[in-house]
Amino acid sequence: MGDRLLVHVDSSGVKVPYLRDFSELGLTIFRQQYLGRLNRHHCYSVEVPEGTVAPAGMAFEGLRQVYGRLDENLFWIAARGVQIVDWDRSHQFCGRCGAPMEAKATERAKLCPRCGLHHFPRLAPAIIVLVERGRALLLARSRHFAKGMYSVIAGFVEPGETLEEAVVREVREEIGISIKEIRYFGSQPWPFPHSLMIGFTATYEDGEIVLDDSEIEDARWFTRDNLPPLPGKISIARKLIDGFLEKQGND
Ligand SMILES: [Zn+2]
Repeated sequence: MGDRLLVHVDSSGVKVPYLRDFSELGLTIFRQQYLGRLNRHHCYSVEVPEGTVAPAGMAFEGLRQVYGRLDENLFWIAARGVQIVDWDRSHQFCGRCGAPMEAKATERAKLCPRCGLHHFPRLAPAIIVLVERGRALLLARSRHFAKGMYSVIAGFVEPGETLEEAVVREVREEIGISIKEIRYFGSQPWPFPHSLMIGFTATYEDGEIVLDDSEIEDARWFTRDNLPPLPGKISIARKLIDGFLEKQGND
């Protein structure tokens, strides 16, 4: 409903509905989407009308609220569902000519029958980078973060830019330093609302920390002995930080 998920909530945590048939929920449903398989099970999303009351023992919760409480594999399926539902709902009509869009049967896309425009689910690529300097790593605090939490640097890729260029630009713009030895680390979908985080590590090259961006309220070099509160375990930000700390531990 809206951008919230229907979940079972009990003392053991949060679970998504596991059903033979949607009618078991006893709710009015529409716009079904297939999301893929998890283990042996086919996963779907459906929407329910605004104002729907959750069945007994269940609640509608936002993706952020269930982050860290839902089993990790289910979280990523739920995240895919929320993004596809949002894309489907906000692309019912052609952005060029206004005609109703039709879903393509062969791929996750929509086609305008009047002017031929295609729409694919939108993704906003964003880079995320851990910068190391000897035994220290660079962590920064955004104004939007939970109290006290610091994380690695992240930002959206701009049109016409390579991922590596985005890494260099973000660190220079937000922190004022230059970096080198940019290496790919891994990637992670980040469904708030529809990003794909592409992770890198880099090494400090030159410059002092200068905060020139109203987004960041503090940035510092930390070592394993003086770490601030960090992002949740399943985030790629935390995997980057844990990877760095592990490497330090082995030295
Ligand atoms: Zn059109």
